[in-house]
Amino acid sequence: MRPQAVLPNALAAVGDTPLIRLNRIPQAEGLKCNMLVKCEYFNAGGSVKDRIARRMLLSAEKKGILIPGKSVVIEPTSGNTGIGLALACAIKGYRCIIVLPEKMSKEKVNTLRALGAEVVRTPTEAAWDDPRSNIMTARRLKEEIPDAVILDQYNNLDNPTAHWATAEEIIEAITASEGPSEESSLNAGMGTSKSGGMPSVDSSSILGQPGARPLTPEESPELTPRGDGNLPAPSAVSTFASSGLVDVLVCGVGTGGTISGISSRIKRGDHNPTCHVLGVDPVGSTLALPATLNALEDGNDGSYKVEGIGYDFDPNTLNKALIDTWIKTEDQESFAGSRRLIREEGILAGGSSGAAIAGAIRFLKGDGWEKFGSKEGVNVVIVLPDSLRNYVTKPWLVEDAKEETHVY
Ligand code: PMP
Repeated sequence: MRPQAVLPNALAAVGDTPLIRLNRIPQAEGLKCNMLVKCEYFNAGGSVKDRIARRMLLSAEKKGILIPGKSVVIEPTSGNTGIGLALACAIKGYRCIIVLPEKMSKEKVNTLRALGAEVVRTPTEAAWDDPRSNIMTARRLKEEIPDAVILDQYNNLDNPTAHWATAEEIIEAITASEGPSEESSLNAGMGTSKSGGMPSVDSSSILGQPGARPLTPEESPELTPRGDGNLPAPSAVSTFASSGLVDVLVCGVGTGGTISGISSRIKRGDHNPTCHVLGVDPVGSTLALPATLNALEDGNDGSYKVEGIGYDFDPNTLNKALIDTWIKTEDQESFAGSRRLIREEGILAGGSSGAAIAGAIRFLKGDGWEKFGSKEGVNVVIVLPDSLRNYVTKPWLVEDAKEETHVY
């Protein structure tokens, strides 16, 4: 774990997100490779886009494009870049206007409003170059509002370059975990410790049952030295059979900043030029290659519910040359993927994370089986962009959850 330090503000709590090894999902799927998820919901604003929001805003300030106390920040987004920017603007005192399609969740809108941003909604069905789209509406507002600036995640190089750090973190985590021993991380932090036990404390004092009393100062320091008292601390570093490399990278694609930035760093000569990069694109979007993958079956109108991935134009921040294989995903398998991450792994993932997991599993059991899925020690890194916080009122989240418990 990183040493603790006092951070100057919430923007400093962006980055250094955990890379967590999945256990039950690969086991259930018969996959031998390691599935490692980069949990971007640990960022201060709750998503991967906090990284680009911070970088775009700070570098615009440095270039004099944004002037504190004067400029107004406007951005068309599917929500998460908006939340990252609104968070930065709250800290720095900028007026912030976020323009997002109607499709995006109420949770995102409320988060934006809570952060003090002004929210403008646009029709989901408007093509990107339709004057009613979020991109065109933001451009119009920029003309109308004095001192307005669009940082423009679709064209701003700070978007992909913000993810070199994401890649460095992934490489560092994998390198730190290199080791010969196979330790079941399912058991890490569980079981009983033979050493370092604390004097027995009446558990009623913790559970608040009759007889409860507060812990005495003599008891409490030993109860939580920086862990869980007489339970062994969950091992921060899990060692397992590992190639020591990122062998496969899986990302959902929106602006393409995440996949292009991480891929460009990982494929460099000093890490793994042959890393296989898998781009995940929802059915209904036109980003995937070959373009024939994007054809719609009769009766499919091309709309999809998953948020944050897929577009009807190629953003300049997406470098398709850095992507080896594209996979198309349906809403149903994406949302089922999120539910599995949550229920089987305790990873509180959002919808596009589910798409990434579903795409990864399909690839690893299909075309990627021989080279990757069937091989012990192969590291498959899957980026999880946001969490269920953005979707807690969506029916898909609890579609097959247990019934509500009534008193009985
Ligand atoms: N998932 C979610 C939930 C997002 O908000 C985004 C950003 N649009 C992405 C995935 C895709 O990230 P990127 O724009 O870097 O391709």
